Amino acid sequence: MLSRPRSTIAQAARVFATLSLGAVVAVTSSVSAFAQNVPVIRDAEIEALVRDYARPIFKAAGLANDGIDIVLVNDQSFNAFVTGRRLFINTGALMTAETPNEIIGVIAHEAGHIAGGHQQKLRDQLERAKTMAIIATLLGAGAIAAGAATNSRGLAGAGMGVAAGGGEMAQRSILAYQRTEEMTADRSAITYLNATGQSGMGMLKTFHRFQTALSLSGAQVDPYRISHPMPQDRIANLEVLVKQSPYVDKIDPPALQQRHDMMRVKIAVYMDGQAAASRLIRKMPGSLAAQYGDAQATYLFGDIATALAKTNALIKTQPKNAYFQELRGDILMKANRPKDAADAYAKAVSLDPARSGLLPVSWGQALMAIGTPESLKKAVVQINNGLGRDKENSAGYRYLAQAYGELGDIPGAELATAEGHFYSGNYKDAKIFAMRAQQQMKRGEPRWLRAQDIINYTPSNKIKIK
Ligand SMILES: [Zn+2]
Repeated sequence: MLSRPRSTIAQAARVFATLSLGAVVAVTSSVSAFAQNVPVIRDAEIEALVRDYARPIFKAAGLANDGIDIVLVNDQSFNAFVTGRRLFINTGALMTAETPNEIIGVIAHEAGHIAGGHQQKLRDQLERAKTMAIIATLLGAGAIAAGAATNSRGLAGAGMGVAAGGGEMAQRSILAYQRTEEMTADRSAITYLNATGQSGMGMLKTFHRFQTALSLSGAQVDPYRISHPMPQDRIANLEVLVKQSPYVDKIDPPALQQRHDMMRVKIAVYMDGQAAASRLIRKMPGSLAAQYGDAQATYLFGDIATALAKTNALIKTQPKNAYFQELRGDILMKANRPKDAADAYAKAVSLDPARSGLLPVSWGQALMAIGTPESLKKAVVQINNGLGRDKENSAGYRYLAQAYGELGDIPGAELATAEGHFYSGNYKDAKIFAMRAQQQMKRGEPRWLRAQDIINYTPSNKIKIK
């Protein structure tokens, strides 16, 4: 379940539990400094869907075994970018795209950058951020007007013109280099799309949208557009390649489109509020996505009993949908029925084909809320299970620490806290808690050794900030 961060929870013991419902968390340790302050959002359903979009593309790009993580960024603007072995994608991009194919096209293009090793060459993502900052500054100084005057040259063209006029040739060369990279990534993207029998029309649609002057209107400028210069000839080349493909008219499978619609509705309900959600839902009358959005909106903004009835109806339609069960669990938690919630989350875990680490942690939170010693022990098992699947779910360590604490296992709680800090990239506190945990452990026992690993860790050895 996905939600905005909230802090107005009555029961202190459940603060973390509720926050974990798709909380916005800091990006974890292995992400470069560039991305350290990116507001990451976690959601089992959306992560699974985007991974399903990416999997065949990564395979075609020869990246299947590279363990590339997909990270969802809580941002309404359109953006997707690569840093290290992570592909970041904004919720705004997922919301804007009307079909899976549009997102798959963007992923294919980004995969082209990864496979091409682009970031290891002239500029890395830090460089790109710098470039973006420069262009953003220039935009503020009237480059939008220049962009309108040069018409099809686009935003980057405008920024370039101003930059060159100011004698800043360095930026000009970065942009020129970037342009070559973009053309290469486009060509690679088409190769991957062809190899997977998918159309390039979605990618073309996205890039066309950025190319039109329309996307310059209003206060928001999409970062993707700024980092992706789209001069006329690039789009023209891409258009030729897309239309040559035997798969140009291929559309997404209906089941995938349905999941996409459900994702968009979910983002709208949780991120953009009731009014925005209603607008989107009205565009999908009679659909399962509309029904899903309605149930979620009722859960967040309406009556709990009604939300539960609507969710039960959804489950009748798709009894094997793990995320309907997850929603049912969330509703039952809000209704203060942790036992029933635990059953719903247990079902969600057993039905989840993607084996998300988030769902066992939700199950664990429900078990914690039951509050008996047996349920706390079961909670520890489930949360550990979730963290085993997804080590970087830093919120999970907080619940684990709390569960150990309530069971009276203080060194366990301190080790969990240490690991939580560790995976949040907060090494100083991680070491403090690891040392505290060790004081109450037998030297050399497995948990003592885990604490020792944290104490011995030196960030510069393992984190590659390129
Ligand atoms: Zn690109």
